[in-house]
Amino acid sequence: MLNIVLFGPPGAGKGTQSEKVIAKYALTHLSTGDIFRENIANGTDLGKKVKEYTENGLLVPDSVTIDMLKSAMDGHKGAKGFIFDGFPRTVGQAEALDNMLAASGSKISTVVALDVNEGELKKRIEERKKVSNRADDEESKVLKRIDEYFSKTVHVLPYYEKQGKLHKVNGIGNIDQIFTSITDVIDAAK
Ligand code: ADP
Repeated sequence: MLNIVLFGPPGAGKGTQSEKVIAKYALTHLSTGDIFRENIANGTDLGKKVKEYTENGLLVPDSVTIDMLKSAMDGHKGAKGFIFDGFPRTVGQAEALDNMLAASGSKISTVVALDVNEGELKKRIEERKKVSNRADDEESKVLKRIDEYFSKTVHVLPYYEKQGKLHKVNGIGNIDQIFTSITDVIDAAK
């Protein structure tokens, strides 16, 4: 199984690049942000539980996020592999993911971390706001999301670095060039 973590701060281009990765490697896409938004739109119990957090740019508690990811994985038993997009965002989630994969004799193959500086992130989300309709693309919420990233999520990087799985890719520049750098990392892990 090819299991990839696509890692990066809000606005780094995870959504754009994961679409291209899925098309090339036939992986199952698991985006925790997408799943949360879908549940909120459908008014499910999970949606009601997470709305307050997501719309204010705060991380959803680990217990809720991990349970949701586990059932999403269970719903794709025949998958050739997964691309995890927006997960893990805490060290607790990273450990839980390793345990879940180990339980089925699998593991994370590689971690691609998109590197984009804070100034560029703010500029991109400002642009996206014009078309995205996302409640959390409002400026104060964006700052909160970036804050959550730099206070909680960055700690996931040393976790994977210690496992020798971390690969940083420059996330600024031409979309196809960035994609080529990503596929170089994935092909080396196959
Ligand atoms: P971004 O554009 O910030 O990368 P996402 O679509 O990945 O946004 O996530 C949107 C929101 O969903 C986050 O701000 C957070 O509230 C929630 N969320 C998504 N993934 C996670 C996660 N792994 N752990 C906790 N909360 C999450």
